[in-house]
Amino acid sequence: MDEIGLGVDHPVVVAEMSARGLKAERKSDSVLGFARWSKSGASAKPRIEIHLHERMPRWKMLATLAHEYGHAYLFARDVLHLPPVLSEGFSEYVEYRFLVRFAPDHVQRRFLNGPHARDDEYGEGFRVVATKVHQLGLERVVEILSSETRDFRAFEM
Ligand SMILES: [Zn+2]
Repeated sequence: MDEIGLGVDHPVVVAEMSARGLKAERKSDSVLGFARWSKSGASAKPRIEIHLHERMPRWKMLATLAHEYGHAYLFARDVLHLPPVLSEGFSEYVEYRFLVRFAPDHVQRRFLNGPHARDDEYGEGFRVVATKVHQLGLERVVEILSSETRDFRAFEM
């Protein structure tokens, strides 16, 4: 991910999880993965984990990993509580950047016509974040998302 300007200077644990485990963890049948931030004590180092469904086609798995990595990237920057449209939008944007850089064309088309095109927080969030990155640059967008004031007016939708 360093190659697309999204390195994380923090260890991220990646593990597979059974469908049953994912369902129990996320209370949903459709979840393919999730990222989690936890801290065992006030002075402990935070732990960032990514869990992925153990059975996925290769590019689905890599795309899901890239998406969850987007969440991990924000956690590593101490951005923990964003409105879902911004956290999912940012993660969709990271997935998009990953696919555009690494995936073959037919895979890109399949994914770009999927969640990125929808009207939910994933699709809408993706369009908002992608537009802002285009205008302001990635680093400035992450700064705005990290700001203590939680002033997201720049992202007004
Ligand atoms: Zn997500």
